[in-house]
Amino acid sequence: MHDKTSDTAFFFPKGEARPPTIPCTICGRQFGSKSISIHIPQCLEKWRRENEALPQSLRQPEPKPPEPILTESGEVDVEATQELFWQAHLQQLVPCPHCSRTFFPDRLDKHVTSCLSKS
Ligand SMILES: [Zn+2]
Ligand SMILES: [Zn+2]
Repeated sequence: MHDKTSDTAFFFPKGEARPPTIPCTICGRQFGSKSISIHIPQCLEKWRRENEALPQSLRQPEPKPPEPILTESGEVDVEATQELFWQAHLQQLVPCPHCSRTFFPDRLDKHVTSCLSKS
C-alpha cells in the first residue's frame, strides 16, 4: 500500500487555488485558521512525548512553530500564515542518507529500513 504522506508529493500544485487551510509545522496536517492555533500546542506536547521516548541519538531539537500572521483586524492572515508555516514545516524534513528523498522525521526510520533492503 502506498502511503501518500510518506513523501513530499502533497506540495501545493502551482497555479491552483490553495485550500484555505494552514499546515501544522510539526505534523504537516492541514487545519483551518481557527483550529491551527489550538492544534499546535497539542501537537507540540505529543511531539515532546514521542521525542522523549526515542533513544538519545535519534532525538530531534524541539521545533519552534512560528506564530500565525494576523491582519490589521486581528484575523489570521490565511495566505501569509500558510506560506510561513509551510516553509517552516519543510525545514523539518530530513533527507534519507541513501536516496536523498526527504521525509518527516517520524517516517524516516521506516523508510531507511525499506530503502536499505531494496539496495
Ligand atoms: Zn500537528
Ligand atoms: Zn531512501
